[in-house]
Amino acid sequence: MNTALETLRRDFGGDLIGPDDAGYAAAGRSLLVPGSPALVLRPKTVADVRAGVRFAAAAGLPLSVRGGGHGFAGFATNDGGVVLDLAHLAQVEIVDERRHLVRIGGGATWGQVADALAPHGLAISSGDTRSVGVGGLTLGGGIGWKVRKYGLALDSLVAAEVVTAAGEIVRASAEENPELFWALRGGGGNFGVVTAFVFAAHLTTDVFHGTITFPAAEAATVLRGWAEHLRTAPEELTSVTDFANPFAGGPQAPVQVHVAFDGDDPRLAARAIDPLRRLGTVTGDGVALKPYAETLVEGLVPPPGIRLVTRSGFAGAGAVPEVLRVLVAAGAVEGAPLISVRAVGGAVARVPADATAYAHRDAALMVVTMSAGPEPVLAAARPALDALWHDLAPHVAGAYANFLASATEEDVAAVYPAPTYDRLAAVKRRYDPENLFARNHNVRPR
Ligand SMILES: Cc1cc2nc3c(=O)[nH]c(=O)nc-3n(C[C@H](O)[C@H](O)[C@H](O)COP(=O)(O)OP(=O)(O)OC[C@H]3O[C@@H](n4cnc5c(N)ncnc54)[C@H](O)[C@@H]3O)c2cc1C
Repeated sequence: MNTALETLRRDFGGDLIGPDDAGYAAAGRSLLVPGSPALVLRPKTVADVRAGVRFAAAAGLPLSVRGGGHGFAGFATNDGGVVLDLAHLAQVEIVDERRHLVRIGGGATWGQVADALAPHGLAISSGDTRSVGVGGLTLGGGIGWKVRKYGLALDSLVAAEVVTAAGEIVRASAEENPELFWALRGGGGNFGVVTAFVFAAHLTTDVFHGTITFPAAEAATVLRGWAEHLRTAPEELTSVTDFANPFAGGPQAPVQVHVAFDGDDPRLAARAIDPLRRLGTVTGDGVALKPYAETLVEGLVPPPGIRLVTRSGFAGAGAVPEVLRVLVAAGAVEGAPLISVRAVGGAVARVPADATAYAHRDAALMVVTMSAGPEPVLAAARPALDALWHDLAPHVAGAYANFLASATEEDVAAVYPAPTYDRLAAVKRRYDPENLFARNHNVRPR
């Protein structure tokens, strides 16, 4: 350990923050988990990243790689190990104006990306939150306000620069190390530290975005009509519906239909969105034309002692009516979690299933539940949550790694079906045979 530390102090030019240093409490934690790492390293260069990776390997310490630090499972910190926080590697640079290629540092957030691209009229399909990291979101999928038109964030990825477990620098793309490139697109942080991502951005105008609300009592008809409309709606329309929000009245909470229409033509937007307005008694309508960057919100830091538990699953088109029936019944019971349903399909479904390691291409909907509170509140809500997922089980499959607060063997199997897992394990063997990168939905190098 001492020799490894001496080598680190010699080779590492970034910030090195230990428990006795100022700023340790903030540097040690991820958004949702406090953590107590032995050392937080904030590299300023790729050489620093190599030094940090080699140090963790030589010292035999657990290693957390932190992009934006927003992972629900808290992988971006640990107790007693090393955190490699990529926050300084956040440059956003247009490297090819004609092809709209954008190189983004592995520690950038989507807010930084949206702000840098807005003056060029460009955007990348990503998520809905400014403070979420490009790293974690992209490596797991990336489902945001342009998902039906432009696909997952990882579908716009054209290359990645990676520091492997051996401290080597490797580039992955369709031409270079294609199997690694396949694995990075859905396989999470299993294969190394991505120090830079290269995306093909797309042109964007202002977009119509906002929320239409309906009374809780109309949940069943609104959800059915919503899913039916999204089945055939233009792909410019992306939508998320949530209800039963425990912080807004639980079973009495309004049904919120969030929409984003990718375009600034009011006539086309109205044609896509108006059928949703006709689904019930509209009690609020905040849809407005705004710059795309303004559709992204800031992630809130939960107060101390509050934990968030998220679970997710996917539904194919045939299962949608039954899934919605189960969800509406569950949402009507006191103690239910926040229930959120995202329409996917569209461009996501057009990518061949074996083109990337993201394994849920054929889903029509993604279901996410979120419970929040201090431990006793979560424990009290657990039976209702388990009952909900028990009732959903026959109708949903898989899980979205980016909306999972846990990482049990069962979770990993849901994220990666067996053929995907086996192919990932072969890539893992090649690039991380000792499983240095284990703070993720872990693929073992078997
Ligand atoms: C408020 C909030 C809103 C969200 N909204 C959306 C949304 O709209 N759409 C969506 O799809 N998801 C969303 N998510 C989920 C989000 O995609 C995941 O939490 C994601 O893991 C966050 O990435 P991160 O880099 O911020 O997190 P981190 O916790 O830093 O990283 C998550 C995982 O990725 C690995 N990782 C991160 N960066 C790198 C890198 N550069 N190289 C190698 N490994 C890396 C980490 O080691 C860790 O295993 C949201 C999450 C939150 C908390």
